[in-house]
Amino acid sequence: MLSEALGDEVEVVLIDQAEGFVFGFSKLDVMFGRLRSDQVFHPYADLAKAGVRFVQTTIRSIDPTARQVDTDAGTFHGDVVVLALGADLDPSATPGLVEVGHEFYTPESAFLLRDVLAAFPGGRVIVGVTSTPFKCPPAPSEAALLMHDFLSERGLRGHSTISLVMPLGVPIPPSPAASAALLRAFAERGISWHPERLVDRLDPERMVATFSDGDEMPFDLFLGVPRHKVPKVVEESGMTEEGWVPVNPLTLETRFPGVFAVGDVTSVGTPKAGIFAEGQATIVAEQLIARHRVHPTTSTYEGRGTCYLEFGQDQVGKVNVMFSSGQTPAGELEGPSELIAAEKSSFGSSRIQRWFDRVWSPQGE
Ligand SMILES: Cc1cc2nc3c(=O)[nH]c(=O)nc-3n(C[C@H](O)[C@H](O)[C@H](O)COP(=O)(O)OP(=O)(O)OC[C@H]3O[C@@H](n4cnc5c(N)ncnc54)[C@H](O)[C@@H]3O)c2cc1C
Repeated sequence: MLSEALGDEVEVVLIDQAEGFVFGFSKLDVMFGRLRSDQVFHPYADLAKAGVRFVQTTIRSIDPTARQVDTDAGTFHGDVVVLALGADLDPSATPGLVEVGHEFYTPESAFLLRDVLAAFPGGRVIVGVTSTPFKCPPAPSEAALLMHDFLSERGLRGHSTISLVMPLGVPIPPSPAASAALLRAFAERGISWHPERLVDRLDPERMVATFSDGDEMPFDLFLGVPRHKVPKVVEESGMTEEGWVPVNPLTLETRFPGVFAVGDVTSVGTPKAGIFAEGQATIVAEQLIARHRVHPTTSTYEGRGTCYLEFGQDQVGKVNVMFSSGQTPAGELEGPSELIAAEKSSFGSSRIQRWFDRVWSPQGE
């Protein structure tokens, strides 16, 4: 947005230690063998936007008062800083997860799971969440449903079980309709649902998961959502409160003037999902464009987002939610249907076209 509106009038420096971008939902596509990792990877080197420079480096410290970051490639100072460092994942916080489980939330681990799943002969599968908050609350439900398809297509479902362990009372609390549809889908497919508990630890010798209520469940394959926390560099910057970066919910500005934060790193009150990160970034960009042009802006963040839900069997549902303060969100469910699956595909393609100026299909075509 900054490049489109202001071009070379401003200097935008995009700093990321990663070489490129991967959609959250693409991780599921790779681990279940629908796509190869190279088909879902978007190198930042392909960014060719007027006024934007990409620097691949690691940020080592952030001084929000001076609006300055120190990196392995030197020090950068901004008139404005937009913090979008996401949530780091800590599989080692759950005893046994690194030794005998598999987390599917980082691209690296989801990509490695492709081979693990391809070699899995069937058996007892647990998809389990180990702590809150966690990104994309529908993702564990999607993983369980896609696992059902994966095992069924290979003739392994008959001698396998799938259990889903979640801290929430229903799969998607802001949408009773989506939750009811998901619970129906679990029941139809024989996926056992274990709400309101976390997975505390895995015992590598007994291959047993222990839940927060003390219950135990044996497993042959454990797919886990690991503990989330802000990146260390954010924690050390003094910007966090209760683990996350507080922001003005309407403007996304932190308590440091000229320093904004968007996405998973914040405690703005929306779920940690890309669609909300994008909506927040849009509001920040609108404010910066208005400020540059010395125009007033009335744009404020409303916490609106559309979540696509993979039901398996090529069916995708859609929930529109709005998390404005003081109101209980109540997202209606559309679908699931193949039509919405096509819409989700266009959603991905349109972003890659806009951000990287190239044609891409989430189906790998
Ligand atoms: C399996 C799965 C499925 C998902 N499906 C969906 C979905 O369908 N829809 C949806 O909306 N969301 C989905 N999500 C969630 C979505 O991926 C995240 O919420 C989103 O990526 C958050 O964006 P962000 O910019 O805040 O953080 P991130 O995308 O995590 O980006 C943070 C960036 O900061 C960089 N970084 C961190 N520390 C440093 C440092 N010290 N120096 C330099 N760079 C650093 C990282 O390299 C990273 O590129 C899914 C997530 C998962 C795991």
